[in-house]
Amino acid sequence: MNEPDQTAAAVRGGRQDVPAGPVRELLAPRETALGGSTVVRRLLPNLGRRMVGAWCFVDHYGPDDIADEPGMQVPPHPHIGLQTVSWLHQGEVLHRDSLGSLQTVRPRELGLMTSGRGISHSEESPRPHARFLHGAQLWVALPEVHRHTAPAFEHHAQLPEINAAGLHGTVILGDLDGATSPGTIHTPLVGVDLTLREGSSTRLPLEPDFEYAVLTMSGLTEVDGVRLEPGSMLYLGSGRRELPLRALADGSLLLLGGEPFEEKLVMWWNFIGRSGEEIVRAREDWMTGTRFGTVHGYDGIPTPAPQVPTTPLKTRDRIR
Ligand code: MN
Repeated sequence: MNEPDQTAAAVRGGRQDVPAGPVRELLAPRETALGGSTVVRRLLPNLGRRMVGAWCFVDHYGPDDIADEPGMQVPPHPHIGLQTVSWLHQGEVLHRDSLGSLQTVRPRELGLMTSGRGISHSEESPRPHARFLHGAQLWVALPEVHRHTAPAFEHHAQLPEINAAGLHGTVILGDLDGATSPGTIHTPLVGVDLTLREGSSTRLPLEPDFEYAVLTMSGLTEVDGVRLEPGSMLYLGSGRRELPLRALADGSLLLLGGEPFEEKLVMWWNFIGRSGEEIVRAREDWMTGTRFGTVHGYDGIPTPAPQVPTTPLKTRDRIR
């Protein structure tokens, strides 16, 4: 999935936008239609915030009753310069890619695709599928030294867990409190799925050098004193050693964090590059059927790239 609907150039990266200390910025979601019957709430990029560490794209969807619906149907499309993370709380997503991967991703399993220099993939609700679909789709920007690597797909059904009174966590990427995900990462970052029992309160250990944000997936939670409902994201800044969490009702959160991403990026459609020329080349390669291989078995035609915007795609300082 991930078809950012922006057709204008979008510039990310750089450190000047990252607060030196803790903040509490509530980010509102923007609804966007994906393929099939899926509508997502887009949290990143956001008008108020473009990245959290190397995390540069966050969609939250569901829970949707898709018993009589096609569910997610995202035809083959290309990526460069990023990793995609598929993360589910309910339902399943069938991933196919140009490496020949064919993988059903289920709740709290990690589907991690590294595009490197180029890959294409499709994502769909299998038939038959579970009644409810609920999850998040995230992108991680690759740093210069790793963005030209060969494409790869990883599936990790077993992920490390952390437990405390009223708290259960699954480490998606990176590490938290000594538990390290097997997922491959290329910059210091973390992603953790947290389940909180109603009435519980806890303090999560954080890296002061990281910036963080929290997305509420379900329930009603309070993060550093800010009440969060599903689909809203709280940007937390940096300089924190711990994070107070409270569950006002049974709830679940995604904690995302990382070292501020230093490099300037150009992000357009499904591509992350460093120059407009590079993006235009990737678009041409997709439209002419080169570089990105073929996704086999998806019942539908590949997604054509939108027109390149007439304004030049340039890296600039990160704009808020
Ligand atoms: Mn995608």
